[in-house]
Amino acid sequence: MKIEDYKEIAKHINILNVAYHSNIEVIKQNGSEFSAICPFCGYKDNKRESNLKLNSIKNTYHCFKCGNSGYSIGLYAKLNFMDNKKAFKELISREFFSIDKSQLEIIPINKMADVEYRNLVYSEFLSMLKLNIKHKRYLQSLDFTSSSIEECNFKSIPSKIISRKIICSNLKRKYNLEGIPGFYMHEDFSWDFFAPDGFLIPVYDDYNNIQGLSVHLDKEFNGTEYLWFSSNNKINGTPARNWITKANIYEHTQTIILTDNLLTYNLIRQVEDKAIMAFSGVTNSYSILKELEDTNVENIVFTIRKLEDNQRLDYMIEKIFKDLLCKGYDITYKYIENYKDILEDNFLDNIKLKVA
Ligand SMILES: [Zn+2]
Repeated sequence: MKIEDYKEIAKHINILNVAYHSNIEVIKQNGSEFSAICPFCGYKDNKRESNLKLNSIKNTYHCFKCGNSGYSIGLYAKLNFMDNKKAFKELISREFFSIDKSQLEIIPINKMADVEYRNLVYSEFLSMLKLNIKHKRYLQSLDFTSSSIEECNFKSIPSKIISRKIICSNLKRKYNLEGIPGFYMHEDFSWDFFAPDGFLIPVYDDYNNIQGLSVHLDKEFNGTEYLWFSSNNKINGTPARNWITKANIYEHTQTIILTDNLLTYNLIRQVEDKAIMAFSGVTNSYSILKELEDTNVENIVFTIRKLEDNQRLDYMIEKIFKDLLCKGYDITYKYIENYKDILEDNFLDNIKLKVA
């Protein structure tokens, strides 16, 4: 899709355009917020109350009286008794009404490419990147061996824009980058990708496809070392999901190690064939429960680094573990002071003793 197309669509689905085509009376403007007469309740009892708020940036509507709310397309669909798909089509085909005052800039999100395609693009992408000395030394300091570093396919993110543009130009000859989280376009239509200082960690699915890439940041940001390789809110960008990755979990597996640290995950996977699951950026238990659904797992050993404060652990308990406990999972914690702990012979024994 071209930038012009986005802008064109944005105009058509703007809440003010929808209001115009739905004969909604707009009473007054306050910045991007407009007061209007609610088409569902505003005319009742011969009253004409402007309880409806339209937001021309978010393209939302909300009536404070009757509670009807949602997005522009949904409003059109509701008023015309059709589904959102038809509403979208009809809005696009209808003439565009312009209120000069209204300025809007929305960038629709790309639908994510399926995992097989993402795997192809990401595999080729990673093969074009290198792991620089700084990151290699860092990984070695965590006790990754040279061969495990290679096996994990960690790659540094190029900081120079010229390098990124060359990589993108080569990639797009073969692949469509729309729908691949992390990739986006500049205003001149040239492709680029998300490039904070750090290195990439491929995150696999059960079939060994790269689902997505995690970024390990050189410097912590908002209390985390990890971000997803994502291009939300960018031209032709695609948001990432909070992927979960797991290894060695079989039908008979009863105890798993759970971690929110993807390097810990990769290290433990190197050390022994232990059942392990990793998550990152997850804010509720839903996706973790979903992964456990078809297994016989009963015990979960959450590994956490001692350096991290109790606040974060409380957050985990509140947001994630509380639900798991309700479902009958037995949860214990295993603190690791540094990565060397994992390599100690009794690291996994301790876990066994704890959950026995
Ligand atoms: Zn209303």
